[in-house]
Amino acid sequence: MTENRANSTAPVTAPQHSVEGFVKEFLRELHFGQGVTLERASVNDEYLALARTVREYLMARWLETVRRQRDAQAKSVAYLSAEYLLGRQLDNALIATDMTEIVEEGLASLGIELSTLREQEVEPGLGNGGLGRLAACFVDSLATMSVPCIGYGIRYEYGIFRQTFVDGFQVEQADTWLTLGAPWEFPHPEAAVTVHFGGSTERYTDDDGVERTRWVPAWDVLGVPYNYMVPGYQNGRVNTLRLWSARATKAFDLAIFNSGEYVDAVRAQTFAENISKVLYPEDSTPQGKELRLQQQYFFVACSIRDFVDNVLPADFDLHNLPDRIIFQLNDTHPVIAVPELMRILVDEKKWDWDEAWAVTQKCFAYTCHTLLPEALEVWPVALLGKLLPRHLEIIYRINDDFLAEVAQRYPGDELRLRRMSIIAEYPERSVRMAFLATVAGAKVNGVAALHSQLLRDKVLPDFSEYWPDKFTNVTNGVTPRRFVRLANPALSELITDAIGPGWLTDLARLREMEPLADDAEFREKFRAVKAHNKQRLSALLQRRDGITLPGDAMLDVMVKRLHEYKRQTLKVLHIVSLYERIISGELDPTSIPPRVFAFGAKAAPGYKMAKQTIALINHVGRVVNDDPRVKGALTVVFPPNYNVTLAETLIPAADLSEQISLAGKEASGTGNMKFALNGALTIGTDDGANVEIRELVGDENFFLFGLVEPEVDALVTAGYHPSSYYEENPTLRRAIDRIASGAFAGGDRTVFEPIVSNLLHEDRFLVLADFQAYLDAQDRVDAAYRDTEAWTRSAILNVARSGYFSSDRAMWDYIDRIWHSQPLAAR
Ligand SMILES: *Cc1c(COP(=O)(O)O)cnc(C)c1O
Repeated sequence: MTENRANSTAPVTAPQHSVEGFVKEFLRELHFGQGVTLERASVNDEYLALARTVREYLMARWLETVRRQRDAQAKSVAYLSAEYLLGRQLDNALIATDMTEIVEEGLASLGIELSTLREQEVEPGLGNGGLGRLAACFVDSLATMSVPCIGYGIRYEYGIFRQTFVDGFQVEQADTWLTLGAPWEFPHPEAAVTVHFGGSTERYTDDDGVERTRWVPAWDVLGVPYNYMVPGYQNGRVNTLRLWSARATKAFDLAIFNSGEYVDAVRAQTFAENISKVLYPEDSTPQGKELRLQQQYFFVACSIRDFVDNVLPADFDLHNLPDRIIFQLNDTHPVIAVPELMRILVDEKKWDWDEAWAVTQKCFAYTCHTLLPEALEVWPVALLGKLLPRHLEIIYRINDDFLAEVAQRYPGDELRLRRMSIIAEYPERSVRMAFLATVAGAKVNGVAALHSQLLRDKVLPDFSEYWPDKFTNVTNGVTPRRFVRLANPALSELITDAIGPGWLTDLARLREMEPLADDAEFREKFRAVKAHNKQRLSALLQRRDGITLPGDAMLDVMVKRLHEYKRQTLKVLHIVSLYERIISGELDPTSIPPRVFAFGAKAAPGYKMAKQTIALINHVGRVVNDDPRVKGALTVVFPPNYNVTLAETLIPAADLSEQISLAGKEASGTGNMKFALNGALTIGTDDGANVEIRELVGDENFFLFGLVEPEVDALVTAGYHPSSYYEENPTLRRAIDRIASGAFAGGDRTVFEPIVSNLLHEDRFLVLADFQAYLDAQDRVDAAYRDTEAWTRSAILNVARSGYFSSDRAMWDYIDRIWHSQPLAAR
């Protein structure tokens, strides 16, 4: 029946690509979609009508892309990620379809400003930070490169919380991104998938006399797919992002009407739907909560089921699965997909174990995103066994087989077996998800050169010795469509004027700008772009937060999640030190270039030290900004709710990018790449992708400071005593003493005592050890900034030499080193 239908399908065509064509469609959407006339329409009506109109221009491409990929039977990437930090959709859809000018003109003819409607969109914040944003950049690149990809994830009803400040302290508000309408999503409740949980397993003998196991689950939920368009940049392709939403199964409906326990039944329904209710706001420090494991299994079970039952043809022989799919695991969050595929092949399809394992091992690859031991996910066996008893058995079997192999290679090496076991025994019997991913994955990659090296040497040394070829690196990237073209239209125009079009999909071409760094006229234009972006930021902050920026100052920006390893505290100590030196008369405020210090950072709601640090920044800001002695020289701003939308205005305005994590702790960073591509110079440690940024832009265009990873290692091994730095460095002592004195807390010494005490007695991330080197590097920044022409030259070279950090390049590297399969090639 579908065959006949396919043959008689009328072509789907986009509306006319003209101002008149657009206006006609827009009014039709307003009238028939929103049910209002132009005279009565609210801004939200207009925004929703506009979004629906723009997506009509993408629809034909979407349907055609899906059809072609089905026909070609091409190998697909299934990107499995618990987070997608997408950012606003409207503008991206407009540049993908090249509709911006038409829409601007069309709306203007109706008396509507496009910029007003843009602001109406609440970004889908379905991620915490770098990891979720990376997933969004990757699916953008694959669509732009015409590579078949389905992004799979969770449609959280509440994404990352909205941050507000009350008296300088972070207060979290619910993210209600769906309340005013969700024009970019396509729900398909009819295609819901059932996912089971709990219960027990039982042995039985099948019809062929083979001993088998079946899972007898206790409860289930439905996963409803919501499809989102992932438009390629002006290439006629639109890939799919499929996010799953949990619903109660029919059984609940029956229970509601058939039992007397109506209220209990409704409550049970709510229980099921809780699974996709809220994004866990922890970044890099996962909490071992049962609901989180439910979320993980929920979305991967839905995704595998979807791919096998709906994407593959009905008669597909699953032995050929590795020819059609690679499941890329974005960190360990989706690793439970491994035992799930095994369960399907062994229990449902009734394959031999070894046969199933051979196929499974070729279908997965694992990306590790951390070096922090506390960020490596483990699940207590008791919890996993209660929720997914069959999966736990499968994990045990995988582990037994694996350890038997290791024992053969290293006879008698009991310690090694214990180290490499997927099951940890202490402090509690639990499953090490990174080990499971490593054992099952065809490839394991880190996200920057240094990180991949440390992953091999420090995090998974036994595994890299065992499988040296399994480990590889793919340095992260960011999409230039969002982080250059959308975020920085003025720079984009300047670049196109300089080197012609085409660079947005071939970012290495930015190199062609290099000679222009020596062209005084070009430098002048480049500075005008930066000045324009600062004005744009200034207007936004005024409108959004009532923050006034001083007219002409260096903009020094530190935006990223608040985490001790990222060392926002080091930045605060720099500011406090400058402030203290000025008011004590040691430093003449007119002798340094005026600076605005801008912060943006959310703290996990349960992370006390991080929340304290936010309060400290705000309190230091209040004192510094109100003190006439430093007026004009130092200004601290901390707009709340740092997200992708704010990043798009903040980053293009920045002069200086702060990337000051302790060496060996930041896996890659991607914020660092966004800044370099937008012409900010980096002050940074030898960490993550900073290393590669510095190599590419050149030492003379980067402010390097601080201990390198082997020095950190040696210092910690020898015994680190932060108080000795405090005692021996008077500048440091005065800065810390000022905080300890209560000067930033209205005289109350207790408010920031935990931060002071932590610095002096623990300082896990060696803030005090790097303090002086950081101050010295900041002096070099000041000196360099005074030479405007030389600074601009460096800024231009940062842009010209950062093309490597396009996520398109990262995707080619994944294709080459991990997915390597010719059907993936663009066609
Ligand atoms: C890029 C980005 C990040 C990651 O920043 P890092 O500095 O690499 O930690 C986090 N949040 C948002 C909103 C981003 O756009």
